[in-house]
Amino acid sequence: MSFWVYCNSCFLSAAADRQLAVTTCGHVICSVCYQKGKQKNCLICSSQCQISPLSDKSSSEVKTLFSDINVVTTKHLTEISKVISFQSRHQRKLLTHYKKRNEKLEETFVKMKQEMQNMAKKLNEQSVYIAKMEKSLQHQSAMAPPVSQMSRASYSAHVQKPGAVSSRPSSQNMPGFHSSQSPSVSRFQGAPLTPELSAFNHRSAWTSPIFKPSSSFRGSMSSLVCPSP
Ligand SMILES: [Zn+2]
Ligand SMILES: [Zn+2]
Repeated sequence: MSFWVYCNSCFLSAAADRQLAVTTCGHVICSVCYQKGKQKNCLICSSQCQISPLSDKSSSEVKTLFSDINVVTTKHLTEISKVISFQSRHQRKLLTHYKKRNEKLEETFVKMKQEMQNMAKKLNEQSVYIAKMEKSLQHQSAMAPPVSQMSRASYSAHVQKPGAVSSRPSSQNMPGFHSSQSPSVSRFQGAPLTPELSAFNHRSAWTSPIFKPSSSFRGSMSSLVCPSP
């Protein structure tokens, strides 16, 4: 029995002729003092209570209250340490996973940043090039002599290859060609056009029935929508 366990009435420890008991109201009383008091009533606080003798046969709840605090502490600290170890192991794993993912994301971010810088650099270079080309074109159109009938003839002869699509004479074709051009395209007058572009400006190209579906095609389309029985 521990040194601090004594009767709360006579303050004596347990002995051969003095057994100790614990009450449901939480007091400790010896067998001698208990005989002096009323049955079923605590001698200390006078409340109704039951008593349980302190022995090896006591309940586990009573035994726990009188157990060695060092043993209890060691037992619980071992349990706490197990729980902490288990939980921290899982938390570390999760942290490692997030760190790796973060590293990958950072790598991707750096790559994308680099790529964006490269693209911005290229864009800047292209803008400078375009500005240079526009300036050069303006300079060329300013320096070029007025377009005469002779130069137009030589121009159309240059554009139209032998056996080209156009069947009209160049003198009828070219005035219409020039009047239909937008101001933004007109700066390309000095530059030689490809035969394909020339053919596209030809009026007959727009009235071509290429995109009109034939009657047989319409028939096949309607059969797709409303299948014949
Ligand atoms: Zn006593
Ligand atoms: Zn009591």
